[in-house]
Amino acid sequence: MTSPALTATVDLGAIAHNLDVLRNASHAPVMAVVKADAYGHGAVPVARAVLAAGAAELGVAHITEGIALRAAGIDAPITAWLHTPGADFDAAIANDIEVALSSPRQLEAVVAAARRAGVRASVTVKVDTGLNRSGVAVDEWDVFVREIAKAHAEESVVLRGVMCHLARGDEPGHPLNDEQAGRLDRAVDDLTRAGVAPEVVHMANSPAALTRPDLARDMVRPGIALYGRTPIPERGDFGLIPAMTLSAQVALVKNVAAGEGVSYSQTWIAPRDTVVAVVPAGYADGVPRLLSGHLRVRIGERLFDGIGRICMDQLVIDLGPDGAGVREGDEVELFGTGRHGGPTARDWADAIGTIDYEIVSQIGNRVVRSYVDPQAPGPAADDDSTGDPRRAAGGGQGDARRPDDWGGEP
Ligand SMILES: *Cc1c(COP(=O)(O)O)cnc(C)c1O
Repeated sequence: MTSPALTATVDLGAIAHNLDVLRNASHAPVMAVVKADAYGHGAVPVARAVLAAGAAELGVAHITEGIALRAAGIDAPITAWLHTPGADFDAAIANDIEVALSSPRQLEAVVAAARRAGVRASVTVKVDTGLNRSGVAVDEWDVFVREIAKAHAEESVVLRGVMCHLARGDEPGHPLNDEQAGRLDRAVDDLTRAGVAPEVVHMANSPAALTRPDLARDMVRPGIALYGRTPIPERGDFGLIPAMTLSAQVALVKNVAAGEGVSYSQTWIAPRDTVVAVVPAGYADGVPRLLSGHLRVRIGERLFDGIGRICMDQLVIDLGPDGAGVREGDEVELFGTGRHGGPTARDWADAIGTIDYEIVSQIGNRVVRSYVDPQAPGPAADDDSTGDPRRAAGGGQGDARRPDDWGGEP
């Protein structure tokens, strides 16, 4: 049986657990953020899993991301909040994607699309309360309120939501969080006075959902915590479980003599005769080249150092003079849950001065996603359940294993 060279195993049970953690902490319904292919975890299977586990809605950046979810048959509410003048608002309306608006120009474009379709478009207002990124700017606010009240009266739009995004959600005690909440509440008041009261108000990202239930309003909007990564490392892991394990099969095992250099520019010279393994994972797959010399992987119960430059498709690890019994085809864990002392995406992020959000969302398309779903039928039921979308979403990888089981693999 063939098996992929490089696999990102996504534990949908962990994601369902993380959703529970977020609901318990925030006491609010969850709009699960599945933008950027669910932070690299696979938008469609993750969306199905979170909805099955009780998420109320889905959030994405681009309308096109929402349309892809619709095309996969997902019918839950979807909000998209990042648009250029070329965005396809007609398609958003046709696919029942809720558009979050950041300017009077975007409002005007949606109104035009709604008129063309002869329908009333459901919209959210994204208010810039201090992040100074997306959202209706302070100096356009009065015009925006006037225009949306007009569009509402003409029945081209209906206002469903008002949202903003926090700049310092990961510093729960920072006064800016309360200032942003106050500005959001005042924006809701302005809209209500103009005759367009929203149904739902939301602002909390992962760190706020976990630490500031008082900011939840009607819904929270977490992303990273769903994937099991703490948004505030100094505060611990909140009981979240990392959902993605990146693993590869050893492609080649070979001897390298003392004094020989390994990989481009030969930045690593063998200090003694040794055995090395080639791992088919490189920077095109999301292993940052900057990790060269700072990478540590796990095979079975042992950790091994990456040596030399990380290349586009491959990297090399040192197995030591005795080769540690590692054979071609053995499974290498690049990062996972961190249980049993294994490497984590956080270790990578720390080593190169970034955050693990970037690490997981950079995992490339060549990496086969394999889904572990505790709700799905087991292998015995496979034959009669080939139509189960959850298994189909897994790309037919019948060999998905829980990271926990790895230590016990033969
Ligand atoms: C990405 C994003 C989120 C989720 O943020 P996390 O920090 O991953 O929880 C929420 N809202 C908006 C507008 C976003 O862009």
